[in-house]
Amino acid sequence: MSEKENKPLEIDNMYLVRRYFQPKNVIIKEIGNRLIVTIKEPENTEVATILKKDLEQINPFKKVSIVFVRDYKDGEVKNDKWQIKGVKNIIAIASGKGGVGKSTTSVNLALALSNLKLRVALFDADIYGPSIPMMLGYDKMPPSSYDGETFQPFKECGIESMSIGSMIANDTALIWRGAKACGAIEQLLTQTAWEDIDIMIIDMPPGTGDIQITMSQKIDFSGVVIVSTPQDVALIDAVKGINLFNKIGVPILGVVENMSYYICEKCGHRADIFGHAGVEKTAERFGVDFLGEIPLHYDIRVNSDSGTPIVQSEPDSPYAEAYEKIAEKIAQKLKLK
Ligand code: ADP
Repeated sequence: MSEKENKPLEIDNMYLVRRYFQPKNVIIKEIGNRLIVTIKEPENTEVATILKKDLEQINPFKKVSIVFVRDYKDGEVKNDKWQIKGVKNIIAIASGKGGVGKSTTSVNLALALSNLKLRVALFDADIYGPSIPMMLGYDKMPPSSYDGETFQPFKECGIESMSIGSMIANDTALIWRGAKACGAIEQLLTQTAWEDIDIMIIDMPPGTGDIQITMSQKIDFSGVVIVSTPQDVALIDAVKGINLFNKIGVPILGVVENMSYYICEKCGHRADIFGHAGVEKTAERFGVDFLGEIPLHYDIRVNSDSGTPIVQSEPDSPYAEAYEKIAEKIAQKLKLK
């Protein structure tokens, strides 16, 4: 499409936006099927809801996200990051869709990084299915506070952690809107008394929606690891994740293939149940690093669902080793080793 043909759409979008906000305070970006409107004005959720509907009407094939920031320059958000004290590096573990093993990967990578003698924190931001408390064995325990102002992180399995699941009943999460969810995530992240953490892992909500976009702009991420299973449907969503983080400017540390293959315990036969090397090929195609593959195994599921993640409960198994190799690569990339 020529530049000329492109223009009317831009004008229409800005035409709608300028009814509520100063055009000089607004940046409109298109990322894949998303239209992201970044506004440097005080947050106004009522107007944002109306504007979002208006924009969706003239962009029927796009999902619209509206993000308020305090400052930005040349399209990049500046000086508006959440202040997370006591933490040196933060990485996101993300996935294009739910159920691919993002949380299982987060928890086992956190433990594998801790085995490298790093001080590790794990933050569960998955409002749609916060599972870290169950995986680390502190399910249903409320966080405590010594001073009435900051939360004490949970200290299980040698790492510090906190979950958005501690703040909400499981059935409430789904009805939260973007702004409310982000407010809760910000509060918990910035008001937890993290102690001298070398690396924090954030288990992101699945997908590439408003919450993920806001978090990517407000958290000073050192990078993101994208988890996918090898099926085509999962890969399509993983690619959406790669595109989103690329465009927002969060460095992609690499991709991990989970449930990669199955080894029969009786005969040792390897079965590539969902096909082979799909994630590695996709990584190559998009110029991002392939960090490694995790097999599909009964023990990984049972241990992660019963509060004893495999890196801790079966440290000498090949499954723990698979996570450890990936953790080493992450630590090297961040120059922590
Ligand atoms: P997500 O965070 O992407 O929604 P989870 O980590 O909660 O996914 O994993 C979904 C289910 O799959 C859980 O029951 C988990 O124990 C299981 N699972 C994840 N990875 C593996 C694996 N490599 N082998 C066996 N089961 C796994």
